[in-house]
Parts: sequence; C-alpha cells; structure tokens
Amino acid sequence: MLRTITTAAATAAMLAVTATGASAGPQTTPNGPWLQDQQHVSLERLHSYDEMVTALKQIQRQSDGRVSLETIGQSNEGRDLYLAKVGRGPTKVLYITQQHGNEPLGTEAALQLLQRLGNGGAEWGAILDQVTLLVVPKVNPDGSERFWRQNYDPDCAGAFCTPGRGFDVNRWHDPAVDPAANPVPEAAAVQRAFARHSPQLVDYHHQGSYRSADGDMITTSIFWPSVSGVPEPALTLSRQSCVVISDTLTHYGFAEVSQYPGTLPRGIARNAYGLRDAGSVLVELRGGIGQKSSGMLVRTAYIVMASMLEAVAEGSVHAADPARADDIPLRGGFVSDPHDE
Ligand SMILES: [Zn+2]
Repeated sequence: MLRTITTAAATAAMLAVTATGASAGPQTTPNGPWLQDQQHVSLERLHSYDEMVTALKQIQRQSDGRVSLETIGQSNEGRDLYLAKVGRGPTKVLYITQQHGNEPLGTEAALQLLQRLGNGGAEWGAILDQVTLLVVPKVNPDGSERFWRQNYDPDCAGAFCTPGRGFDVNRWHDPAVDPAANPVPEAAAVQRAFARHSPQLVDYHHQGSYRSADGDMITTSIFWPSVSGVPEPALTLSRQSCVVISDTLTHYGFAEVSQYPGTLPRGIARNAYGLRDAGSVLVELRGGIGQKSSGMLVRTAYIVMASMLEAVAEGSVHAADPARADDIPLRGGFVSDPHDE
C-alpha cells in the first residue's frame, strides 16, 4: 500500500543517486517517499548541543503537533537528554545517535529526518500510521562538546572507564544493570526509554576507514546482536533489518556495506537490546571524515533511517531472508583512524 511512490520526482531522485541503475533490486529494498527528499546537506558546521536543542524545539514548534519532545534524563554536566517522538503506529522504532561524542553525523541525519517528518505529507503519513519513531539524538552531549568518545566523568573508575575522561556510554546498556544503579546517566536514560516503549533499535556510530576485499572503500558497516542468549525472534528481526539496510544502500549506490566485526560485551546497545528481545542493529558510518564526504555520509545515515522506517511500516522487513545477512561481506583491511562501536 505504501509502495506507490513512482512519480517522476522519485525516479529522478533515484537516478541522481544510483550508479548502476535501479531496476532490478531485491524485494526487500524500500522505495518510499524519502527518495523524493532531495535536500542538500550543509555541514559547514555540525550542531553543537545548544544548537541541536534549538533545532529540536523549532522542529517541534513548526510540526503542527506531529513531533513531540520530552527530556528523559540529564548528562553528568546537567545537559538535558531529549527523546523526540513522531507517528502513531503500534510498532515502535528507536534511533539513538552519538553515544560516542566524536561520532556526530548520525545526529545530523536524525535532525534532518525529524524535520522532514515534522513537515508532514501524505506519504509519510501512511508510514507513520504504522510506526512510531523515537529518536534520542546526541546521547552523549558532554562528550560531544569535547569531541571525545566517552561521557564526562573524569573521576570514573571500574569497567569501561577512561580515567580523566569518563565512561564508554555504549558499554552500559546491559539488561542486568538497573538504570537506577547505572553509573552512566546517558545509558540509563536510553535504558528507561527502551523499557517504556519496547521499540526496535538502531544505534548509529562512525568507524575508521576500511576496505572491502575488492578494494572498495567501505562506507557503512552493520551488525546484529552477536552475544549468546538473544531470543530467536529478536535475532531474526535484527538480521532481517541488516538485510534491508544492506540491500537499500547497495541498491541505490550509497555505500559499500560490510558486516561490522562486533564484540561480545552485553552492555553494547546492539547486544543489550537484543537480549531484551528487540530487533537491534548497529550502523557504523565511515569515520575519518572530511568536509567533502560528510554530506554523503549524513545522506547515507538518513537513507538507513528512512528506509528502515518504511520497511517496518510495510512489514517488508519481515519478508527479508535472515540467512542473507551472512552474505553481507566481512569488513576488509583497515585504512586509518580506528574506532570501535
Ligand atoms: Zn561509536
């Protein structure tokens, strides 16, 4: 029902972004209204925390009630953590960005998506009848302000702490850790938001620059929960989501996609929310970014966000063959500037 966007504008948009033509794609490739969004990404400046808050409030104000905004906690330095919500569908999808302060582009993509959804439109409306989108942008605002990975907790101690800086936020989502006892308030806020809404989750990061086996630059790596104990339905949905993302980015020529060689800590969001029986996916954009490629990487994240929303709304994500996730190539050789999830 939703797959009716075949206007000239959509076709032109497809041609504009497709290197190989767009006629023979896999069944799972969404092709929805986001294809018409021919916006130009300006990244002369990334949003600081304050600028992001201003942008979120402006989006909410101008959305005619479509986008709501609430605070779900505070960082160690007292910055409010925001949850944006749009849509009225029974299925919930949660996107979180910038758990690592020095990985900003998912936040930029999320702001663009919220702006678009706030503007409304019939095509998006059909999607948002089926899905409710939740976004926690810039999960780690204190680290973001310093452009470092950790939160700000220089006196931290124990697991996943870097003394003088703070904790790795993306190690503190373990279901065994009670949010009330979580030493990382940013992770606890996401834990509580998850508990309230039981969403599927996609977590956006940057990695260094890697090459595939045939030498192409990898621009996106993705992965499903790899820890043992993830219930089968959640693992299946996570793998199906990865297939949709891979097919979509490959189909439209946005990115070389690989599997991310993710590790096993239970507190990594990808693992932790899978253990809670949710579809859970990690998306790693290429890091080591320059001005020139940043726009394309934001666009890539935006396409992942929009296409996942459509695939969940249509239910087409459930039609993807989860076994095909294993066909997504492994990440190739390291080029420069490593990060991990
Ligand atoms: Zn990261």
